Amino acid sequence: MLINDMVSLATKAGTIRYVGKSLYGNPIPMIKKGRERGGAVLAVGTVHAREHITGRLLCELAAAYDGDYPVDFIPFLNPDGAILATEGMTAFALKNRERIALLRLNGGSTDFTLWKANLRGVDLNVNFDAGWGTGARNVRTPGSENYIGEYPFSEPETRIIRSLAESGRYALAVAYHSKGEEVYWGFGGNTDYREEAETIASALGYALKTTPDSAGGLKDYWIQATGLPAFTVEVGKDAFPHPYPESELPDLVKTHAGMPELYAGIAERVWKRIRNTT
Ligand SMILES: [Zn+2]
Repeated sequence: MLINDMVSLATKAGTIRYVGKSLYGNPIPMIKKGRERGGAVLAVGTVHAREHITGRLLCELAAAYDGDYPVDFIPFLNPDGAILATEGMTAFALKNRERIALLRLNGGSTDFTLWKANLRGVDLNVNFDAGWGTGARNVRTPGSENYIGEYPFSEPETRIIRSLAESGRYALAVAYHSKGEEVYWGFGGNTDYREEAETIASALGYALKTTPDSAGGLKDYWIQATGLPAFTVEVGKDAFPHPYPESELPDLVKTHAGMPELYAGIAERVWKRIRNTT
């Protein structure tokens, strides 16, 4: 999967705008659906490189969504990682030194299919400023997964999410990962929006869980920074391997059909509630 494939999938799903660039300089498209107004939903996929199936899923869901309520989709937050995981290193114009460094991060293997991080070995989902560096599985050296980066928001990809959170126009954020059929909610001591989490989990038939051992994630940061609901959705059955087989996409689309509409309904209620109380 090359950057043109991602842009073309997004373009087919709706009107796009670019929200920034990856480390390597690849454009990161956002699919904008619904009417422009406050309280929008943000749905983000491919935070982890090998979970590129979530990007394809979000493009399908965006294409099917014709509601009036605003829903913004970023199917491929980590395009460099997705390219690396699907095409390998040769898809990048790297200097010899960079090529060797990348190989070293991957234990000398040219097989990057299980890669999770961005192009310099930072795991985006531990680079957010929310309990940064306190996660149980955090590591301090670059690699395929769990490396927190030199400091919070050291990566252009996570800074894009920060600027969207700071824009104040969203009521709800949902981050898509694979796999396990689970919905994660809450962060730290914050247990607001349990009811909304239950609504999402039961609509999907997924298990509802908290993530007490993890930190620095998109959901964690979003909850801490905005005080508004954010959830992680782990799509797909655990019985399948990583990367989640593309042949299972139709099944995922079926399971997730109508979820943007459901998120929109939740966002609208949350937005109304906070605007009445502040
Ligand atoms: Zn993930």
